Amino acid sequence: MNYDVIVVGSGFSGSILARKIAEECNKKVLVVEKRTHIAGNMYDRFDDHGILIQEYGPHYLNTNKYYIINFLEKYATMFKHTAKLLSFIDGNYVRLPFNFETVQQLLGSENSEQILEKLRSSFSGRDRVPILELVEHEDNDIRNYGNLLFEKAYKTYTAKQWGLSVDKIDKYVLNRVPMAMNYDERYLNKDFQYLPVQGFTKMFENMLNHENIVVKTNLNALDYITFDENKKEIFYDGNLVSSLIFTGPIDELFGLKYGPLPYRSLDIKYDYYESDSALPGEIVSYPQAIGYTRSTEYRKIMYDCSNVKGTVVATEYPMQYNPKNEIGNIPYYPVNTVESNILYEKYLKEVSKYKNLFLCGRLAEFKYYNMDVCIEHALDYFENIKEYLETHA
Ligand SMILES: Cc1cc2nc3c(=O)[nH]c(=O)nc-3n(C[C@H](O)[C@H](O)[C@H](O)COP(=O)(O)OP(=O)(O)OC[C@H]3O[C@@H](n4cnc5c(N)ncnc54)[C@H](O)[C@@H]3O)c2cc1C
Repeated sequence: MNYDVIVVGSGFSGSILARKIAEECNKKVLVVEKRTHIAGNMYDRFDDHGILIQEYGPHYLNTNKYYIINFLEKYATMFKHTAKLLSFIDGNYVRLPFNFETVQQLLGSENSEQILEKLRSSFSGRDRVPILELVEHEDNDIRNYGNLLFEKAYKTYTAKQWGLSVDKIDKYVLNRVPMAMNYDERYLNKDFQYLPVQGFTKMFENMLNHENIVVKTNLNALDYITFDENKKEIFYDGNLVSSLIFTGPIDELFGLKYGPLPYRSLDIKYDYYESDSALPGEIVSYPQAIGYTRSTEYRKIMYDCSNVKGTVVATEYPMQYNPKNEIGNIPYYPVNTVESNILYEKYLKEVSKYKNLFLCGRLAEFKYYNMDVCIEHALDYFENIKEYLETHA
């Protein structure tokens, strides 16, 4: 056993930490990945038609911090891609995020003048406003419009996505769905929106390609991890390691001893079309449809599709996570509710018993991290680990 550090999971959190520790601390790092491939939920691959599909759903990198793009450019050539989405409501395609154009689409231009004026003056200086804020607004017209969006799109989509009624879901998650207070058509209003030319997996391959890093896929780290409560240390394959960084689900690390944390999973179904285009946009959300939430046409997101024949549409069917099932066994989203956050705290107390155990990432920290936040967090977290490794060499 020649490793100083074990990193469990090869998503953004694990791969960034592995690379930084290998390169800047000159430590030997073993990355253990349960799936048959690296890159976690960012994994993408070319399908039989030459289309770059993202196996775990579509991902757009967007951030206001250019250093994040700069960091990723060490491992991949990036191209600018501004995501533009549509939502299918009452038989019509409307812009997503809902914006001033949507007001006219849903109410008719002739009925929109007053509400547009009110929205402008009530939210002046604000680019985007969570729909929940409209629903709770003191003005009748604004509240009515908020309720219209809420009923036609938000409530049903959210219930399908999370498998819960909206009153049960953490406000942090709910507040992620905004309305644009202008005619902005960009799905995301961050300054820098990029994708890697050759896809995410290639970028991860380059990130993990370092002489101090060994990657083992198709291996469940839980089969090798043991705890010594008295010594307050965690072991890998019977050996004490200076640190073990865990980026998988925290409840599984502790054998679900307090019960399982809830995660949401997806079943993604693919339809191939011989034409060059199948949807009116790269992603269409279907809040009123039964069973599925949105469809993605990956060809429309690709940097170069000159050699692609036909097109593929991937449709997402949210479902409950169950590690034992054939479908739905990938934990995509932590479901944050009051109860689940309390349960998470119990697991967190377990972590604090072990001085060489570190948690990082969406599943380990049971938080809804977007990529940019996840990357920033891993880069910051590295500074803690670095200090720890220097003082516990
Ligand atoms: C459908 C979907 C769409 C998204 N879209 C966007 C978007 O458009 N923009 C955006 O910014 N963010 C998006 N995100 C969020 C983004 O995916 C995450 O922020 C990021 O991928 C989290 O990386 P991570 O390394 O923390 O977790 P993960 O990518 O989940 O990596 C954890 C890894 O640990 C491995 N693992 C777990 N347990 C074990 C074990 N016992 N042994 C070995 N390995 C183990 C897993 O197999 C996995 O590879 C989206 C997320 C989802 C689910």
